[in-house]
Amino acid sequence: MLNVIIFGAPGSGKGTQSEKIVAKYGINHISTGDVLRGEIKKGTKLGETAQGYINQGQLIPDSLMIDILASKFDSFKDSKGVIFDGFPRTIAQAEALKVMLKERGQEVSIMLNLDVPEDELMTRLIKRGEESGRADDNAETIAKRLKVYHNQTAPLIDWYKKENLFVAINGLGSMDTIAADLFKAIDNL
Ligand code: ADP
Repeated sequence: MLNVIIFGAPGSGKGTQSEKIVAKYGINHISTGDVLRGEIKKGTKLGETAQGYINQGQLIPDSLMIDILASKFDSFKDSKGVIFDGFPRTIAQAEALKVMLKERGQEVSIMLNLDVPEDELMTRLIKRGEESGRADDNAETIAKRLKVYHNQTAPLIDWYKKENLFVAINGLGSMDTIAADLFKAIDNL
């Protein structure tokens, strides 16, 4: 299986590029943000819990996220691989992902880090908020999410460097140029 982690700050383009990778390699997509927003829309208990954290710009607790991730992963049959978008976001999640995959005879193939400067992230997220009406894409919550990213998520860069899985990708430029760089990295495996 081709197990790809697409990594980057909020607004770095993970969702957009995941779709391109899915189309090219025929793998399954797990976007934890989409899963949570789906639960909120359905009005489930999980959705209700998630909404509180998301509106505050905070992360959902690791134990809950790890269970959601494993059950989503196990729902795929005869999968060629998975792109993990929005997971892991903490060291605990990265460790749990490694264990979860190992228990299934799998491992992470590559971690692709979309590098985008902070001012550009802010511009993109504000614009997304205006266009899509995503409740967490407002200036105050964006600032909190970027802080959470730096404190809790960015340390994963060093973690995956140590695992020899880290590849940096310039996240500025046309969507197709960025996609081409991502494909090159995957094809190099
Ligand atoms: P972003 O564009 O901010 O990366 P996502 O759609 O990936 O947005 O996630 C939206 C929100 O869902 C996050 O701010 C967080 O509250 C929650 N979330 C998503 N993935 C995770 C995760 N792996 N662990 C904890 N919380 C998560």
